[in-house]
Amino acid sequence: MKIAVINCGSATLKFKLFDMPSGKVLEDKEIEHIGESNSPIRNHCEAIEHLHVDFKTIDAVGHRVVHGGEKFVESVRIDAEVIAAIKDLIPLAPLHNPANLEGIKVVGQKAPDIPQIAVFDTAFHATLKKEAFMYAIPFEMYEKNQIRRYGFHGTSHFYLLKETAKLLGKKVADTNIITLHLGNGASVCAIKNGKSCDTSMGFTPLEGLVMGTRSGDIDPAIALFMQDELGFSSQEVNNILNKKSGLFGLCGENDVRNIEQRDDKQAKLALSIMVRRIQKYIGAYMVLLEDVDAIVFSGGIGENSSYVRESVMNNKIFKNIRMLVVKTDEELEIVNECLKILEK
Ligand code: ADP
Repeated sequence: MKIAVINCGSATLKFKLFDMPSGKVLEDKEIEHIGESNSPIRNHCEAIEHLHVDFKTIDAVGHRVVHGGEKFVESVRIDAEVIAAIKDLIPLAPLHNPANLEGIKVVGQKAPDIPQIAVFDTAFHATLKKEAFMYAIPFEMYEKNQIRRYGFHGTSHFYLLKETAKLLGKKVADTNIITLHLGNGASVCAIKNGKSCDTSMGFTPLEGLVMGTRSGDIDPAIALFMQDELGFSSQEVNNILNKKSGLFGLCGENDVRNIEQRDDKQAKLALSIMVRRIQKYIGAYMVLLEDVDAIVFSGGIGENSSYVRESVMNNKIFKNIRMLVVKTDEELEIVNECLKILEK
């Protein structure tokens, strides 16, 4: 059986074709700079054309959908009702859900008879309790406007959980770990008895760790100050915090490989700020979990940078905790979800 995975980011499209159940990757393609001014590819529809894939020869397509809100707590087979619900969630993920919908629409037009499955980035965090997901803002803003912590990177944290349980020889349901997905976007998850019990990304993927170009946690008053005192529009503030901050904002670039090679104070400071933030989250999550089987590093930085791993773990409090490096595979996890749905 051939199952494709489509991951439409705001300006990227990743495509992987798997032979299942062997898990063998038959095709692996990525298109970047979609919709950018100097790019010939204007939208995700054109990007899919550019893949030159005959979807009629594929048995099913799994889509990564960034925001499932409170409605989607697990993967679902896509139908008109699911599409409408993903559309309703656009205000919560204005950059991502429209791109995800476009991918779903184009595949539906090209091969109307093949099943399409939505796998949500938020679903793994559906187990967060109210005390973990509520912000201390007026309660009705949760009830009326769904302002709450959702958490993201769920497919990655879940995959890391299952792989770590195997490595530890434990059942998933007995596993207590802290998973660090450290890529350009980065998040940490506290997993208690196999369930997400807290995570660093919140209402949007902007909260939490210092990322490649995102600020992570800041005092929300800074955003207001930028608007009221510095004269930036809300769109400009959004752009600054998502695209011009994080490591890039601190030292002018976001590729950790390069930053590690640099000898200047600014580069060193940027890494120190990132490392310190990770340590603070691990410390906080150790308190929540009480027992921690392992701290798991993953994502481009977590898997490859021994400097970041060692700097993070260089703390007396963490010295008796096992550190693991596990390669994440979100696409494989999405395919596994598709198989589960198809078997139902
Ligand atoms: P994305 O969120 O875009 O999927 P990745 O998981 O691919 O991101 O991670 C990208 C990050 O990983 C970049 O900051 C890159 O510098 C970092 N990275 C990749 N390889 C290495 C390496 N060998 N040493 C340090 N950092 C690395």
